[in-house]
Amino acid sequence: MDKIKIFGLKLYSYHGCFDFEKEKGQEFLVDITIEKDLDKAESSDDLNNTVNYGEVSNLAAKIFKEEHFNLIEAAAENLANKLLISFASIKNIEVTVHKPNAPIEIPFEDVTVSVSRGWHEAYIAVGSNLSDAEIGTPEDLIENGKKMLAEIPGIVLEKASSLIVTKPYGVTDQPDFINGMFLIKTIFNPYELLDELHEIEAANKRERTLRWGPRTLDLDIIYYDDCIIDSAELTIPHIDMCNRDFVLKPLNEINPYKRHPINLMRPGEMLDRLKQ
Ligand code: ATP
Ligand code: CA
Ligand code: CA
Repeated sequence: MDKIKIFGLKLYSYHGCFDFEKEKGQEFLVDITIEKDLDKAESSDDLNNTVNYGEVSNLAAKIFKEEHFNLIEAAAENLANKLLISFASIKNIEVTVHKPNAPIEIPFEDVTVSVSRGWHEAYIAVGSNLSDAEIGTPEDLIENGKKMLAEIPGIVLEKASSLIVTKPYGVTDQPDFINGMFLIKTIFNPYELLDELHEIEAANKRERTLRWGPRTLDLDIIYYDDCIIDSAELTIPHIDMCNRDFVLKPLNEINPYKRHPINLMRPGEMLDRLKQ
């Protein structure tokens, strides 16, 4: 990954825990390191194929001066997130905030905090087999969920599979399911992403009564980069995905080359194994 570095932006702002810091303000210095694939910019020598560091600096200054925090940790994280969202072609960003006039009694040179944030790729399985009087059919609920997902700052919808009709899984005495898959990129970590998905499910009238029972909208994280997570709240890759053709078929449609990070199989290979 190529890098663009901006050092020592001098920005006067009002971050700090003490009243005098919030009232009088002080000077901060901000360093920004942008990671991006610059191949195209190098070969074309065209400003449109890179990230314009003038624009990045201007936006960074505006955000850092206008939005105030107690901690420079929070100011740095806010800046990293907002810059990533505004310049979505940046892959990773590192923001360092220097506070050379921090209230420390002993003479010191500088105090800094660095945070690094980036875009991640996630595959989200979607399913529905109940209508809602206000929102509509399962297809309408899935469309609504997709729209809500795409509107969240920090999530970009990259691909959506076509929808398939499948027989219910686990609990068979319920209406047929409509299933599909979304490929997104996101600045959220897996737990934050799960919270966002739960909020979208709730806004689409999801009620959890029976495991594998009928539902208006279900959004499951199938893959998150090549991460492997096994905690009480979250298992990634999704624990049962290899046994579900309604997950593997839409996954195969949007990326037949994506390998499972544990068994290293492509969706087509997992589908073949299911048929045996
Ligand atoms: P299944 O997970 O077998 O498809 P389900 O989707 O019906 O069943 P839910 O009631 O939607 O199950 O979810 C129960 C809990 O599963 C969630 O609250 C969440 O904490 C947990 N969970 C674990 N791994 C994942 C994942 N990869 N994606 C979504 N939820 C997950
Ligand atoms: Ca599910
Ligand atoms: Ca679920």
